[in-house]
Amino acid sequence: HAAVMAEDNAEDSDGANFKLQNERTSSEPLKQRLEYEVRLGKKQNHGTIVGTAREQEDQIFAVLYEDLGKHRVESYRDEVGILLKSLKNSLTHFEKWMTPKKVMLPEPLGLVLIFSAWNFPLALSLEPLIGAISAGCTAVIKPSEHAPATSSFLARAIPRYMDTKAIKVIEGGVSVAEQLLQEKWGKIFFTGSRQVGRIIMSAATKHLTPVTLELGGKCPAVFDSRLSSLDRKMAAKRISVAKWGCCNGQACLDVDYLLVEIDLLKQSIRRTYGENLAESESIAKIVNKHHFKRLRSLLEDPGVSASVVHGGSIDEEKLFIEPTILLDPPVSSELMTEEIFGPLLLIVTLKNIEDSIAFINSRPKPLAIYVFTKDDRLKRRVVSETSSGSVTFNDVQLHYFSDELPFGGVGESGIGSYHGKFSFDTFSHEKAVLRRHFFMEPPARYPPWNDF
Ligand code: NAD
Repeated sequence: HAAVMAEDNAEDSDGANFKLQNERTSSEPLKQRLEYEVRLGKKQNHGTIVGTAREQEDQIFAVLYEDLGKHRVESYRDEVGILLKSLKNSLTHFEKWMTPKKVMLPEPLGLVLIFSAWNFPLALSLEPLIGAISAGCTAVIKPSEHAPATSSFLARAIPRYMDTKAIKVIEGGVSVAEQLLQEKWGKIFFTGSRQVGRIIMSAATKHLTPVTLELGGKCPAVFDSRLSSLDRKMAAKRISVAKWGCCNGQACLDVDYLLVEIDLLKQSIRRTYGENLAESESIAKIVNKHHFKRLRSLLEDPGVSASVVHGGSIDEEKLFIEPTILLDPPVSSELMTEEIFGPLLLIVTLKNIEDSIAFINSRPKPLAIYVFTKDDRLKRRVVSETSSGSVTFNDVQLHYFSDELPFGGVGESGIGSYHGKFSFDTFSHEKAVLRRHFFMEPPARYPPWNDF
């Protein structure tokens, strides 16, 4: 079956020297699935799988802390816990998913390549892998070089628990990624920036490889000031914890800009993270110097710095940037046009709430739109008049945790989706199977046509 073989002398770094082999026969996919069924579903029961993850939990928390300064509760919620949930869901349902329907057979796409980003370096590597395995694919994972401790953990841990002929981790940076892109894959599943997404898509054209692109963008949140003061407080709390309590703003689903009462947000920051934010263990660090400098230079634009209404302090040594709120920064500033991917939150004031629809539509389609309102007419208008990967009312990011909802973008925020059964579909081809008898030919099928 499809196999990924690394040469003995392969280096797991930039300039890696690897050889890939992808051979399969027509009867192999089901055999392959059976093998996984035995491996994942039957011989090892669910308890064992969960036990296996637990065995490495402390290691996982340690590498995520080293790479991103994430608190273990945050790491459990956003990486370990969500993976255990997805694994359990996949193990419960994959037999049903793979059962051929009368005329359609879900066929594995073969050997797939998974690129992940650094902000959820564990979850974004393993969540697609769960889908790939349940669909019967083999996979190469290329984790992000910017979360080196997690990348090296994956390279060490995966061979301990999985068949290395079927699942391989190849570590490295851009040059390794470029070499991998030269190969022929059944699918490329990419999580990362739009800029690199374009590179992936153009490399995929060489072999007409299908791609799933999980990209980012600027996610807006619309805040209806007609909400009661109690609801407004809850909304501000949900926004603030999603923004600064989830990789400190370095998440694709973070609120990028919103319309809200600033005082409520300020109170919520203080209540959640305390007075001394630089010392708070609940706020992740900025991943590295490169991103720290990028965020600092966004703040240094004079028009932008004048719009800071809360926070703004930074500490280069600790890679710390305080939760920062900016009110109506210049429309043409980079902050307003590019994805922020950090702890800066923009507030855009509009004349009335209905204007938010035109504002959102004047920009590239976002990965998510959040709307805090009880107005059903406004909800209907947002759903029908805007386009985005998803819409959530009265909360932030929660749809990411659901196995029942497809997760993915549209337009510039991505192509394709995954999670739950959608992951299985992402790594499968629905093959149409038509079976005919040898009798009953329609007379008009064959020439000469002028006989009719
Ligand atoms: P990135 O695009 O810089 O890197 C992603 C992957 O691409 C990494 O594995 C990297 O090694 C590889 N890569 C980098 N340059 C490459 C090149 N020239 N050729 C081939 N491969 C290359 O993204 P990032 O900085 O790791 O992550 C941040 C971005 O990811 C943000 O835009 C964010 O919105 C997005 N993101 C999206 C999701 C999602 O699920 N939609 C989740 C997390 C992050």
